[in-house]
Parts: sequence; structure tokens; C-alpha cells
Amino acid sequence: MREAMPYKILVSDGLSQAGLDRLSAVGEVTNNDKITPAELLAALPGFHALVVRSRTKVTARVIAAGTNLKVIGRAGVGVDNIDVAAAVARGITVVNSPFAASVSVAEHTLGLMLALAHHIAAADASMKQGKWDKHAFLGSELKGKTLGLLGIGRIGAEVAARVRAFGMKVMAYDPYLTPEQIQQRQAVPAGFDDVLASSDYLSLHLPLTAATRGLLGAPQFTAMKKGARLICTARGGVIDEEALRAALDAGQLAGAALDVFASEPPPSDSIARHPRVIATPHIGAQTQEGQALAGRMIAEEVSAVLEGREPRFRVMSNE
Ligand code: NAD
Repeated sequence: MREAMPYKILVSDGLSQAGLDRLSAVGEVTNNDKITPAELLAALPGFHALVVRSRTKVTARVIAAGTNLKVIGRAGVGVDNIDVAAAVARGITVVNSPFAASVSVAEHTLGLMLALAHHIAAADASMKQGKWDKHAFLGSELKGKTLGLLGIGRIGAEVAARVRAFGMKVMAYDPYLTPEQIQQRQAVPAGFDDVLASSDYLSLHLPLTAATRGLLGAPQFTAMKKGARLICTARGGVIDEEALRAALDAGQLAGAALDVFASEPPPSDSIARHPRVIATPHIGAQTQEGQALAGRMIAEEVSAVLEGREPRFRVMSNE
């Protein structure tokens, strides 16, 4: 008879097959990516590990329900959907899988930037309506333009490395890095206001924290170059979406490309529907390679904690 698996692991937002296979080596895996918040609360006492992506909101209440939880794994990087302090206070280890999707998100960012410059999404939508409207889509080159980055960690650095090929100038504001570190990441270090005032394209690559929530609102859009474009593949809450709508309507910003929204999925009157916004449904990390790697990495991290080994990517706070 097969011995009962020592650990029970709940995977609540899906995981790559490689990740599920690795987890199955240490425990009994329940893979339910449709679980509702109420079902999660009821089921959690039976599990030692919870593995999520961004859908499941791991609030203090959820954590309190996890009376046998040893570890919460976030397949991906952003932990703004997890109350890390509440987990740590209960002795539950939180781990994530940084790096796994950095290239995917950086490539998506470049795709959005190119789509903004060359009106690719709008031109495609027009052709789908049977039109051939060449004159309606006068684009502009990225060459010679300034890209400003707010945050130049893993993803920001991958973006900076790639846009050199387009002949753009890259500036970055990141208060947690030294000017030398920013230069090593192929960007010119600059202050927040300077980046806003100088960027033709402004791309956000910082986490959503108490300090960054609503970081870009009406005063910041006013401080930007007229006709600049904004790209956000970081987190929706960093941008005040109504202020962005006003800046687009006033022509202060020429366009925006958003992969992330304050509320996901966004409501029907959301900024995602604005004609000068290119919107994608939080798919920056959604590549075959990114998901496979995130699955393998988080399974490794969760297994380490369950088996009493030190994980590589322990998350200590939401900051
Ligand atoms: P990272 O931790 O490597 O880099 C974030 C950088 O932001 C750090 O260098 C940090 O110093 C900097 N930072 C923090 N606060 C700042 C502030 N107030 N102003 C300027 N810089 C600040 O993280 P990463 O792997 O590069 O990911 C960046 C963000 O991208 C994540 O936090 C996550 O929210 C988002 N993300 C989105 C997707 C997606 O699918 N669209 C996927 C992965 C990550």
C-alpha cells in the first residue's frame, strides 16, 4: 500500500505541469483554480502549503484560517495579494519566484511601447472592420526618444538592456539603488521629477506598496512632457486611473498601454476601454517559458520549506 503523503498542498491559481509534478514529489496536491474565497476559507485548515499567483487574495483572514499552513508560495514576483506581515506573525513562510518572468514582462513592455508608437492595435482593429485607413495611423519612431523608468530592478533592467537596440536614451529613478547600480543597468540615474519631465515614454517597474500606491496622479501627469506616453506592466494601483483618463482626454498624454489595473478584471467603464489606451489582461508574465520557470521555481521553494530546508527567495514584508 502507498504511504500517505505527509503534506497537503493547495494550488489555487493554476501552475505549470513541471511545478505540479515537483510538488507531487513532496505532498498530495489539490489543484483548484476556481476555488472561491469562501471555499478557500473552509478548505484551508486541511493544507500545509498554499500556492497562488495573483488571483487568490491571501488576506489576514485567509491566513488565520490556515491553522496548519507552513508556507505560502507566490508563483511570480508581486506579493501585493498576500498579507505578508500577517503570515510572518503566524510563523508561516512566504516565498516567491523572482526572475522567472522578468524577460517575459520586459518583452511585453517593449511590445506595448512599439504598439503605442506605431498604432498597431488600432490599425489592426480598423482592418478587422474592413477598412484601409493608412492616413489615420501616422506613427513615430522610438529612435532618439527618451524612455524613463520608475524602478529598475529585474524587469526594468531587462527593458533597459533591450531598448538600446532601438537607439533610445534611458533614464531611471530608483531610490533603493545607488547611481552606480543604475548606470550598470544601462540607464542614466535621475530624480523622480526629472524622469517625469524628460520622458517621451514612461514605463513603470516598481512594486505596489503603501509608498507607491497612487504614485502617478494628476500632478504627476501635468509634470510630464505634453504628448508623452505611459506604459504600466507593474501594478494597477500605482496609477490613479481617473487622473490618467483626464490626462488622456486633455491631450496631456498621447497614449497609455496598460497590462495591469486597479481592479482585475476591470469594470465595464474602466480606463481599459479608453480609445487611447492599449490594454492587455495582465499577461506580461503569461508566456510558456515564464510560467514553466515560475512553476518549477515556486515548487522548489515550497518543497524546501516543507522539508525543513532554507528557501532561496523568502519574502519578509510587503515593502
Ligand atoms: P524588483 O524588485 O526586481 O524591482 C523593483 C524595483 O523597484 C526595485 O529596484 C526597487 O528598488 C524599485 N522601487 C521600489 N519602490 C520604488 C519607488 N517608490 N520608486 C522607484 N523605484 C522603486 O521587481 P521586478 O521583478 O522588476 O518586478 C517589478 C514589478 O513588476 C513587480 O513588483 C510586479 O508588481 C510587476 N510584475 C508584473 C507582471 C505582469 O504580469 N505584468 C509580472 C511580474 C511582475
